[in-house]
Amino acid sequence: MKITFTFFLLFFAFCAKAQRCATSEYSRLHPVTLMRPSGAGVSSTKTAGRDTLNNEVIIIPVVIHILYNTNDQNISDKQVLSQITSLNNDYRRLNTDTVNTPAPFKSIAADTRIVFCLAKVDPEGNYTTGIIRKYTHESNFLSDDAMKFSSSGGDDGWDASRYLNIWVCNLFGRTLGYSTLPGCPAERDGIVIKYNAFGTTGLITAPYNKGRTTTHEIGHWLGLRHLWGDANCGDDGIADTPPQETSNSYCPVFPHLSSCSINSYGDMFMDYMDFTDDACMNMFTQGQKSEMRSLFALGNARNSFLNSSVCDSSNAQGGPLPSTPPKDSITISAPLTITTYPNPFYSDLTVAASDESAVIGKVLKLYNITGKLITSRILQSQKTVLHIGELPSGIYFIKIEGNKSPLVYKLIKQSGVSR
Ligand SMILES: [Zn+2]
Repeated sequence: MKITFTFFLLFFAFCAKAQRCATSEYSRLHPVTLMRPSGAGVSSTKTAGRDTLNNEVIIIPVVIHILYNTNDQNISDKQVLSQITSLNNDYRRLNTDTVNTPAPFKSIAADTRIVFCLAKVDPEGNYTTGIIRKYTHESNFLSDDAMKFSSSGGDDGWDASRYLNIWVCNLFGRTLGYSTLPGCPAERDGIVIKYNAFGTTGLITAPYNKGRTTTHEIGHWLGLRHLWGDANCGDDGIADTPPQETSNSYCPVFPHLSSCSINSYGDMFMDYMDFTDDACMNMFTQGQKSEMRSLFALGNARNSFLNSSVCDSSNAQGGPLPSTPPKDSITISAPLTITTYPNPFYSDLTVAASDESAVIGKVLKLYNITGKLITSRILQSQKTVLHIGELPSGIYFIKIEGNKSPLVYKLIKQSGVSR
């Protein structure tokens, strides 16, 4: 089996443009019972004691294991953060290239209401940045999970019921990434991404430079399959993704028809679960959203994440002083106060929250006096600095969404330079 698998890797490494994703090959070697909604399948996961709330923003704490053999492979914090930002934009459909979604697919494009944050509490309860760096003697890794174990030159994963483990390393050949499927053994649970296909800045290589390898692999981690079901005109089990003959690569022109297209719109090659270039992808569908979110329902594979509080630094020992008393879990409806300063502002504007755990994952939107949206972003930390010195002077409004009632703040931009 090992020889066959290595042959696969060699084949893809040298005969193809790049192997966008090795999840199919991996899952053939490591089959699992994919847990489905309503408790179908066998769950060995501890339940968190509550079900998903209707359309709540689901927060997934992430730990990044960077395994480096060369300095280049030891990617910067900035590169890691760029990936988290890009993930949140893609999963909340705040990506700037939604305009490229073809009109016939726009109505089914989804904001999944799933967000990601770097863990602030490690498994021992200590403060962490959520980024682990470890030198390895391995110059590269096959898609065989060696990177997931310290005993084979990798780094042991953290508790997979509370953390999404992401290993960033030098995958062999041209393989960009792979993921386990829900229901796999806990010690292997997570995704693996090649260091130069991770994030949107730093040591990244076009056309895989918009963080979509990670968006795609987390799609698998949340139970999604490739659009073509890894078979000729196969099925991914999602009702609103059209059938397509096989994978697409590069960036086709819309519409791209295949032998099994059911209408003139053809393939949904801009979906994150195809193999097209990063710049070509821009959407998940409503059906994919439902499939991913169903995994968080009571009794299903990712339910325990609803109770994971490891992005709340107030639960950590040895970290920055908590701004509020420790809490049992992330409560997205917690009372929240926002301070904006300076006001009036000149160039940079700081938006600070009273409670880090309550603000991460919420959406900040900046509007001008006419109600035009200037910018929006997912808040990643307690304090966010907006660099908006180029804006004309006048009155602006900041809106923080995700509360029972949105928080709105009035701001005044003045010309000149603040010191
Ligand atoms: Zn894939």
